[in-house]
Amino acid sequence: MRMSASPSIVNVGYRSTNFWVVSAGRSRLLIDLGWPGMFGALMANLARADIPFTEITNGVATHYHMDHAGAAQDLKNAGMRLLVAEEQVSAIPLMAQHMKPTDHYTPIVDAANLIVKCSESRALLATIGIGGQFVHTPGHSDDSISILLDSGEAFTGDLTWPTFATEETMDAVMASWAKLRALGAKAVHAGHGPVRPMPAA
Ligand SMILES: [Zn+2]
Repeated sequence: MRMSASPSIVNVGYRSTNFWVVSAGRSRLLIDLGWPGMFGALMANLARADIPFTEITNGVATHYHMDHAGAAQDLKNAGMRLLVAEEQVSAIPLMAQHMKPTDHYTPIVDAANLIVKCSESRALLATIGIGGQFVHTPGHSDDSISILLDSGEAFTGDLTWPTFATEETMDAVMASWAKLRALGAKAVHAGHGPVRPMPAA
């Protein structure tokens, strides 16, 4: 598949959380995967954006907190392939521990998940026509990754903005931003709030 044009980016988020559809033509990647028990709201927003769910062949969570990965298994059950960074594998069962019955969470099963090393993510994304890579960016959580497109668009999940980092997380947070900057990140598509330029070095 060719990767000439930059992928398009559409936000299909709800409840103050951004869920991003990155599209290279009809090949689409969903970044962050909905709230638990709210798969229907995600489907409605996709329909409103004229994005057929059947074209969302792959999805990835920036990290396994319920507002970012709560509907992952529902999406898998509907036909999406779940990409899991190696750093995220052990965080999946931990997320389940925080769910309450009222969350109506569908537990993520290991079956059919594709475990990806960040170092091999570029080759994988190329198979779906997207130029970019997964970057391990701990700070908010150890399992946090960012998805960095070659166009400089970075999907950073909840990676803490430098001015809000605590003393305890400061080193990890600053190292993650520095890593993204060195790899060419220009625009920050966070899990919450508007798109922003990269924070100053
Ligand atoms: Zn989080």
